[in-house]
Amino acid sequence: MKEYDVTIIGLGPTGGTLANLIALQGFSVLILEREKSFYPLPRAVHFDDEIMRIFQTIGITKDFLKHTIINKGTKFVNSKGKVVLDWPRPRSLTENGWYPSYRFNQPDLEKQLRKKLKKYKKVEIKQNSEVSKIKNFKDYVKIKFKNVIINNPEEIKSKYVIGCDGANSITRSQINTKMDNLGFTQKWAVVDLILKKEKKNLPDRTIQYSNSKQPATYCRNVGKRRRWEFAIKKNQSEKKILSNFYIWNFLKPWLKKNEALIERKTIYTFKSAISRKWKKGRIFIAGDAAHLMPPFMGQGMCAGIRDVSNLAWKIAKCLRSNHNEKLLKTYQSERFSNVKEYVETTMRMGEFVNAVGSYKITDNISSTNDGTKSMQSIKPKLGKGLGQKTDKNRGKIFPQFKTKNGYHLDEKFSKEPILLYSSKVKKNMLNKINSIKSNKVKGLSIYLKKSNSKALIVRPDRFILASLQLNKNFDNFLKKNINILI
Ligand SMILES: Cc1cc2nc3c(=O)[nH]c(=O)nc-3n(C[C@H](O)[C@H](O)[C@H](O)COP(=O)(O)OP(=O)(O)OC[C@H]3O[C@@H](n4cnc5c(N)ncnc54)[C@H](O)[C@@H]3O)c2cc1C
Repeated sequence: MKEYDVTIIGLGPTGGTLANLIALQGFSVLILEREKSFYPLPRAVHFDDEIMRIFQTIGITKDFLKHTIINKGTKFVNSKGKVVLDWPRPRSLTENGWYPSYRFNQPDLEKQLRKKLKKYKKVEIKQNSEVSKIKNFKDYVKIKFKNVIINNPEEIKSKYVIGCDGANSITRSQINTKMDNLGFTQKWAVVDLILKKEKKNLPDRTIQYSNSKQPATYCRNVGKRRRWEFAIKKNQSEKKILSNFYIWNFLKPWLKKNEALIERKTIYTFKSAISRKWKKGRIFIAGDAAHLMPPFMGQGMCAGIRDVSNLAWKIAKCLRSNHNEKLLKTYQSERFSNVKEYVETTMRMGEFVNAVGSYKITDNISSTNDGTKSMQSIKPKLGKGLGQKTDKNRGKIFPQFKTKNGYHLDEKFSKEPILLYSSKVKKNMLNKINSIKSNKVKGLSIYLKKSNSKALIVRPDRFILASLQLNKNFDNFLKKNINILI
């Protein structure tokens, strides 16, 4: 029976990102995907700076950037056309080294992820392959699947399996767990259009129409692509809603029929739910298999990509040394509260768009001079897991710095944790680990000072594992963290 280090079920954006992150670490990967090719129509249209940083690690940003635009933010408009809340995305680089928010077309991303995977000799992709059974053993997992064209059953062994198999995940049912519904369920129509000509009077931002009669969203997507989404009432006929007559009538305030082509029209049920368990033995779930959220914040796919960025280096560490149950268990505990905050914030946004909730979507809302409310993006820390609860820096994202001789720290250190230390720290154990002195990195000494630290350990997923306040504890600090550092 053929054996792999890692098997990934599902080659959507979550599976494609995970496969790249594991392949980058040099391990063998099998990807089993039920469909013949990728889903050709867009779903996700937005991602943020944290996610671009993960794409940077994978090495796709150079080509992929050409297919993106910088997102200028969102305005919430009431039924009288007045802006009641603004969510600006300033056109300046963030601490992650990228713009706060981007727009893209999902098939372009999936193409880039697959193109990159082709470069790895140890990556095998089996399309038309549907997984039906996954069984945990002490040191490996057995997976049964069949080729859906020729109906040919196969079985393989893998040291770890990750189900990135979407909302109806078979992996989730195999680990015997359930999704908890967090309370938002609503049907929305989604209409993607391609403009025939530039239309200057269409907004350059996302507009959320906060209106109890017809909650709706407009998205300014890449190139000539534009999207409208609108809520459907329980008694409305889906067939009627999706008729060209109804859609063009809905679009009348913005577009005439001869000005754009409908690329696709469909109805989704927007849900908010999180799986109780994300792991059983050597089997994991990630992405939509583990959580679902309505798309008002454009964070569903982003959450899946954050999952696998958290998980990939932990699995790689287990493959390089030994299986470490304690380490792998921190995957769910660190990701759960982070994703829950996104789901709950998105739900509040959905309620506001439905004009039944308050504008207080996040804790970070301020009033501008003209009285408009302005909202900031959330950046939740990791949930409890690796590192000390008492350490204030632990679980925060670490900024992307450049060294004084011009390279990005992220690009130099993408596989293993690094130790960043002020020049004042004694260096007894330093030759064993990846480490860099703060005076070699632009802005790092100031950052250390601001975070009241003499040294920091940064994990490969760019989160801070630990910080040290006093020089004299340096050896202890290293000893305590050495099992993660090497
Ligand atoms: C209208 C809409 C707009 C959205 N906008 C955004 C946005 O702007 N930003 C954002 O971040 N998110 C957005 N989302 C959410 C985002 O699209 C999803 O979160 C994301 O696509 C999930 O990716 P995934 O890889 O986890 O799952 P999927 O993309 O669902 O991929 C799962 C894959 O697993 C395969 N599979 C399933 N079962 C099996 C099996 N048994 N064997 C083998 N293969 C299997 C499937 O064929 C599929 O290819 C939006 C969603 C919707 C509906």
